[in-house]
Amino acid sequence: MLPKDKLERLAWACEYLRAPDWLFEELKGPKDKFNFRIRVMVGGEKKLFNVIRVQYCNPHSTGARPFKGGLRFHPDVTEELLEILGFDMVKKCALANLPFGGSKGGWIVDTTKLTKAEIRDGTERIAEGFLTRNIIGPDIDVPGPDMGTNSETMFWMYNKIAELNRHRGIPNVAAIVTGKPLECDGCPGREDATATGGLIVLQEYLKISQTLFKMAPRIAIQGFGNVGFNFFKLIPETQFNIIAISDVSGGLYSPNGLNFEKVKKWHKEYGSFKGFPDAEEISNEDLLESDCDILVPAAIENQITAKNAYNIKAGAILELANEAVDSYGYKILKERRIPAIPGIVANTGGVAVSYIEWSNNRGLRPHKVDLEKILADVQTRLDKIMRDVIRTVYNKSAKEALTLDEAADIIALETLRDQLKMKHGY
Ligand code: NAD
Repeated sequence: MLPKDKLERLAWACEYLRAPDWLFEELKGPKDKFNFRIRVMVGGEKKLFNVIRVQYCNPHSTGARPFKGGLRFHPDVTEELLEILGFDMVKKCALANLPFGGSKGGWIVDTTKLTKAEIRDGTERIAEGFLTRNIIGPDIDVPGPDMGTNSETMFWMYNKIAELNRHRGIPNVAAIVTGKPLECDGCPGREDATATGGLIVLQEYLKISQTLFKMAPRIAIQGFGNVGFNFFKLIPETQFNIIAISDVSGGLYSPNGLNFEKVKKWHKEYGSFKGFPDAEEISNEDLLESDCDILVPAAIENQITAKNAYNIKAGAILELANEAVDSYGYKILKERRIPAIPGIVANTGGVAVSYIEWSNNRGLRPHKVDLEKILADVQTRLDKIMRDVIRTVYNKSAKEALTLDEAADIIALETLRDQLKMKHGY
């Protein structure tokens, strides 16, 4: 079951919609939870690790559509966190009208203490665990990358499941995971889809809300992984000024702006931002409270909370990380009238392109000749999905005097109510 603050929010949204009781009952907790252990050789010794998969709600309740959600490798993974993130996936897919239920999974592990071979071994054990429990499949549940996992991890899963399926005489299925490398049935544009989608949402939001700045808006980004790195890379320098960036060990601040190529080169060479010339070294806490126009948390959850929300100086927030702003943080931002585009809107690009990858992987494999043309098609589709989502949410918030996160929740629940009503008989 969701934690108290999330249940209160769900109850508020159901009441707002005057929804039938079954909507709250259906969404208050996940449908299924799977916990199992994997044995991985670490430093020559066998170690046991916990793996969790939470399958939240599948609006196509006959099981005609799969669950969809990321797979996270991180020491702080808990069942409660995965339930919250699984529910976010349900709402995200509903908002973007993607034919998936929501799920989320995690391996409780500090990958910095493992070699690449050990991480691959663990990933293959997870693939086996999912397959033997029948909780993975193109029409069952389709994992994708999240924190600590990437296209290589997704390839390891795909490859292992393909091998196991071959021994079981089951045809190979590429649509079993998304976010695979391009050369191995992946989709052009998936690698930076979340960041691309976030940028489209930000640009569209600034346009429709007629938010004006005297100079190029100053952006502070927390996180330099798949999402933060690609967001920084894609930001047009002529339009925005990136003044701060961080990773888990700290960040940089320069009021004159940071150059992506220089920062990338430094981080690649030294593994952190420490010692970077012409910028001040700052902590993650300082970055969140820095003097900027747009704050982009793109790392981890619970970064803007009751502790620091009163100190936020940004004029707007683009929540690229899931749950970066907690319930209390949102309440304070509302009180302070700081608009925050919620994660279930801002980071939908990842699952949107995963949907395209999953659909392309069904049936016959396409003959991929003109990758540029395929990429252009993916970008056009992503662009439309993201613009539709932010426009719908923005219009609802303006019309009904709701914050953006309230409007997003209400629209998602309206969609889920309509999808689920056949199951409940009205
Ligand atoms: P990642 O593992 O590639 O990168 C995470 C980044 O956050 C790294 O730079 C890391 O150093 C930093 N970080 C980790 N812990 C931190 C902490 N305590 N404080 C500050 N920084 C910290 O992960 P990612 O794929 O970029 O995902 C980032 C967020 O975006 C997550 O919330 C994830 O759920 C969400 N998201 C990712 C995708 C995707 O396609 N990868 C899609 C949707 C949402």
